[in-house]
Amino acid sequence: MNTSSIRFRLIVWYAGLLGILFIFLGLAGYLGFSHYLKQSLERTLANRAKQIGVTLLQENDETSIVDDIKKHYAPEINDRFLRITTENGKLIYISGPPKDGSFDVSHLPLLSIAITQPFLRKENTFNNGGLIIYTLPFEVEQQKKFLIEVGVSSKQIDEPLQGLLVTLALGLPIVVAIAISGGYLLIRRSLLLVEEIAHTAERITIGNLNERLPIAKTGDELERLSVSLNNMITHFGEMLQHINRFSADASHELRTPLTILQCDLEAIMQKRQLTPEVRETIASAMAETERLAKIVDGLLAVARLDAGEAIIELIHLDLASLTVAVVEQMRLLAEDKEIELNCEANERVIIEADSARLKQVIVNLLDNAIKYTQSGGSIDVLVTKENGKAILKVSDTGMGISADAIPHIFERFYRADKARSRELGGSGLGLSIVKSICAAHGGQVEVHSSEGQGSCFQVTLPLVNDFAEKKQYV
Ligand code: ADP
Repeated sequence: MNTSSIRFRLIVWYAGLLGILFIFLGLAGYLGFSHYLKQSLERTLANRAKQIGVTLLQENDETSIVDDIKKHYAPEINDRFLRITTENGKLIYISGPPKDGSFDVSHLPLLSIAITQPFLRKENTFNNGGLIIYTLPFEVEQQKKFLIEVGVSSKQIDEPLQGLLVTLALGLPIVVAIAISGGYLLIRRSLLLVEEIAHTAERITIGNLNERLPIAKTGDELERLSVSLNNMITHFGEMLQHINRFSADASHELRTPLTILQCDLEAIMQKRQLTPEVRETIASAMAETERLAKIVDGLLAVARLDAGEAIIELIHLDLASLTVAVVEQMRLLAEDKEIELNCEANERVIIEADSARLKQVIVNLLDNAIKYTQSGGSIDVLVTKENGKAILKVSDTGMGISADAIPHIFERFYRADKARSRELGGSGLGLSIVKSICAAHGGQVEVHSSEGQGSCFQVTLPLVNDFAEKKQYV
């Protein structure tokens, strides 16, 4: 479980606050209910004590008081306690053990202090529990003073309180659990949209800047965030278009003076009176302008492809026969380097592609394989269908690519070994052109290689029926 995730933290906070709130409410409810029970019991006992005082204590002699109490109140049968004493501590009446045996007053001491005000107290008795007693000092005709003590078992308060406590103890966790589950579902629902935005955002790359994030019509920060991100993507797309257009324009502008320069150098080279040193210098300048022209051509191709402007004429073509033709054209190059070149393309693999662009892919991969494979090595080209896709593999037994370099070789101008690439006439743009062309055809290119063990470049393209996004590039 990810404890630092926003979902986890929200739920912990929510559960914590809810738990504290419910405990607080439970405690307040418990105390309030306990107070209410005590008050209402005190009122009942006070009324009863007054009633006993008024109706009974006005009898003349003590024997008739006892008879009256037994006759009218029968405290034992009603599970009540009743004791009447005179002011100087003489016991007139005390009830016996209650019928339900809920308390035992046999050892209850007489009150030893002078009582002037009524009050409620709790006495612990030997049996079962406590006794709640209300004591009322009562004066008859300003002569005789009595203490009337009326009591009931404390169970009358304890039992409902215990019931409430059990209900709270069982109910609270259930209520908190239900509230947390509800909260979890709500948080999940609101985070689903964030996840959807994140998924779409992950899908958006330079190749599909036309896609937009879903907008939550919630009128809150989430809606603002998706709208702002969409605006950002739009600006980013415009900036990229601008940069690509600039690169394309710059490359295009450079081409004409370069061609003129090349022609001029060739014309100078034709002159007879040149000294060998001058001839050598001009030859070197011609080689450099040729390299420069190659780079400019490469840059122009990449910029146009990235801007989606490369004129791609989509036709149904057989990748196998196109590959065989290119391999045959390049066989001489391989033979010059004494490299064995094998091609296996036996079945028709029909794809929808721009033949010139796709030829460029095969040429670039083969050119690299020849460049980076030493004499005596071999190159295997394979065209096949796999899992409903067209596959082109170019494997060589050459120098291979180090693990550090692999993630970068499709970047523009990246060369694992700059000096060597330059020596071999490389511009560092061949593989980025391959990658852009593959992407423009809804495919991809990947490499498996290890240093000194050779490399295998694999191009995967949609077969004719799978090709879904062709219109985008037409
Ligand atoms: P370059 O013009 O330098 O060949 P690329 O874009 O075609 O540029 O390739 C980029 C780099 O990838 C090369 O400089 C080279 O280091 C490496 N590379 C490409 N193909 C191969 C291969 N078949 N074997 C070994 N290294 C390769």
